[in-house]
Amino acid sequence: MSLTLGYRRADKMSEECGVFGIYAPGSDVARLTYYALYALQHRGQESAGIAVADGRTIRGEKGPGLVAEVFADTDRLKRLPGHVALGHVRHAGDCADRAVNAQPLVIRYRHGSLAIAHNGNLTNGHRLREELETEGSIFQTTTDSEIIAHLVARCGEKELTTALKKSLPKVQGAYAFVLMSPDQLIGLRDPHGIRPLSLGKMPGGYVLASETCAFDTIGAEFVRDIAPGEMVTIDRHGLHFERFAPPAPRAMCIFEFIYFARPDSNLLGRNVHLVRKRLGRRLAAEHPVAADLVAGVPDSSLSVASGVAEQLGLPYEMGFNKNRYIGRTFIQPSPELRTLGVQLKLNPVRQIVAGKRVVIVDDSIVRGTTSRHIVEMLRKAGAKEVHMRISSPPVIAPCCYGLEISSSTELIAARMSVDEIAASIGADSLGFLSAEGLLAAVDLPAEGFCQACFNGCYPVKTGDPRGEKEHTEEEKEQEVQ
Ligand code: SF4
Repeated sequence: MSLTLGYRRADKMSEECGVFGIYAPGSDVARLTYYALYALQHRGQESAGIAVADGRTIRGEKGPGLVAEVFADTDRLKRLPGHVALGHVRHAGDCADRAVNAQPLVIRYRHGSLAIAHNGNLTNGHRLREELETEGSIFQTTTDSEIIAHLVARCGEKELTTALKKSLPKVQGAYAFVLMSPDQLIGLRDPHGIRPLSLGKMPGGYVLASETCAFDTIGAEFVRDIAPGEMVTIDRHGLHFERFAPPAPRAMCIFEFIYFARPDSNLLGRNVHLVRKRLGRRLAAEHPVAADLVAGVPDSSLSVASGVAEQLGLPYEMGFNKNRYIGRTFIQPSPELRTLGVQLKLNPVRQIVAGKRVVIVDDSIVRGTTSRHIVEMLRKAGAKEVHMRISSPPVIAPCCYGLEISSSTELIAARMSVDEIAASIGADSLGFLSAEGLLAAVDLPAEGFCQACFNGCYPVKTGDPRGEKEHTEEEKEQEVQ
């Protein structure tokens, strides 16, 4: 479920950013990118942007808001002629709401121009930025994309791919980057493959996207995932694959299956909806309960809830309606207004839940505040009993790879037992899916995934012995407010 209510206290693993790239001479690449960004909108609603190259010049249009808001004036697309494009939707997990951080970044440097956009987080980003600033670099944004742009610009190599191969060994973290020169599209993925990036094919060209649902939207066909530590270059000569990092243990973020990805996307050859249904069946088998109906918290938990209902032999009902038309204007700064924001976004269906024993299914519990609101709303709507079931293990450790939870003190499961959490959120019972159950439902080897937020084992050096993200002074101040 997504409750994106501001950087400091969002009570969910918030969406990742979404990236898209296309090389397709003869196609309206700006418009295709616009459609693809619609499909990736769930990965970030803070800002959106498109950059297009025509062989000589790179032009960009971007701004704060949803894709539909940023490109409400469709003349913005007409101002982007060319045959190579990048697109980006951004979730503001890495800092405050700043339009200046909208991507793609378009820069000019000694060897020409480039555009860059990314999904993820460099765990040594603050350190690299300090070093670059000490050496005279001037930053205009707080994005990791700009760090890569500076490294590329300073390394002295004319060829973009050569410059990247020279620069990337300096960075650590979880990332998928898409870049372009005026006549070339490049995609690459961190050595552990923590963040996803897939390659697709369409008539006359190729596409790259964070999720395969973007391919379906524009009529492209999935070819394969970009391998961890691999870089693909697409230009008039076709496709060229090369490694920029030696093989490392795979560690894709398992939360892609639990929450981030759209149900119609496929990850590692598995359809996300079907995996979530299996999560639900396993969750119900681990935590059976006598009840009247099962409902999911929209949207990510609907697939799971259908699996829970099947396993328990109970009706699967619409317990909540979700208002899908709340944009960034509802991001509210105070706790009171954030509570109102939850209620605006979710409304229980009284006629369904009144007088019933309800099993309510959600994907995770982070701070517990959203779960408390959900239970409260169901009780106010007349639910007789509320049994919460969670399709992931307890989140006990922060994520330092681009998600918002930056300190274990914020995590309710790091401080309380399951029974204590149930009491704290006001549920009659609470059950989390086990780590074994999660992996059984995904049906892929455990060693291929990052599960650090469940077990504290971080696949990439984090810059802090506790695995916690390095913070800017500005972020530290925000944390204590
Ligand atoms: S710690 Fe790992 S599994 Fe958890 S959200 Fe971050 S990347 Fe995903």
